[in-house]
Amino acid sequence: MMIFAVFGNPISHSVSPRLHNLALGELGLSREALYTRYELADGSQLISKFKELKLSGANVTVPHKEAALAQCDIADETAAKIGSVNTLVSRDDKIYGYNTDAPGFLRAIEDFGQINSALILGAGGTARAVAYALKSRGVRVCVLNRSEGRLANFAEYENFSWANFAEFKGGKFDLVVNTTSAGLKDENLPAPTELLRPIFDEAKFAFDVIYGKKTPFLNLAAASRLAHKDGSEMLLFQAVLALNLFFDGSLDEAKIQASMQKALRLG
Ligand code: NDP
Repeated sequence: MMIFAVFGNPISHSVSPRLHNLALGELGLSREALYTRYELADGSQLISKFKELKLSGANVTVPHKEAALAQCDIADETAAKIGSVNTLVSRDDKIYGYNTDAPGFLRAIEDFGQINSALILGAGGTARAVAYALKSRGVRVCVLNRSEGRLANFAEYENFSWANFAEFKGGKFDLVVNTTSAGLKDENLPAPTELLRPIFDEAKFAFDVIYGKKTPFLNLAAASRLAHKDGSEMLLFQAVLALNLFFDGSLDEAKIQASMQKALRLG
């Protein structure tokens, strides 16, 4: 039996077990594989727990993605550049680390069409994944954060611009992405309205990584008549890619996607 899990803290809200188990069932794999969740308080225990539970693979969510990168045996190039791992795969006694948030985000914005420039709000782990993904497509990226500290995360990235709210000079961007948790458990915008409104007036698309909720950010985007979406497709695609990595790319992605889409609707 292959066992997979998602590690995080908290983890009880995670929809990953529902997505993966429905897909495993519909792919005819439920007799040989199951997916569960594990609340892990101490990130330094991540890989020892992975081994103790005899897992074949795992997903890693807040706040352990950086610990996953530090502790895996072999990190793929994208994960290493982003600085975080959200998917672990056990292969030949080694644990491999991947980041499927970045390609998941790219798939989620595919139907927006051509994007030449983007403003990313927030400078945490998700901002790094989104920024890396956009840069890989040749998009001009600016990162905007309320405080200075985490902007240092972008100092080693080439061809990025970044600013805190006080220093920001504005500009014209095709896409605006909210990667902060503003709006998740509150009704806050990720940046002051007077800063966002002129940006939205010139933009074409808005994307919020928060899913399952019409956030103030998305409401403002709608009021500014921007094409917009929440983070549910990013969540979906990062999971589709992760499940296929657990099986070394041997599964049919279209089938995984159809099952996981159904599982998301069941929520
Ligand atoms: P981090 O803690 O690494 O970063 C959070 C960032 O948000 C920081 O830059 C912080 O600024 C900023 N921030 C937090 N609160 C506010 C606020 N009220 N106003 C303005 N800025 C704020 O978080 P992550 O990057 O790990 O996660 C961010 C979000 O992305 C979470 O909500 C998570 O659930 C979601 N996510 C969604 C995914 C999906 O598949 N849809 C995938 C991965 C993550 P400062 O530096 O000043 O503290």
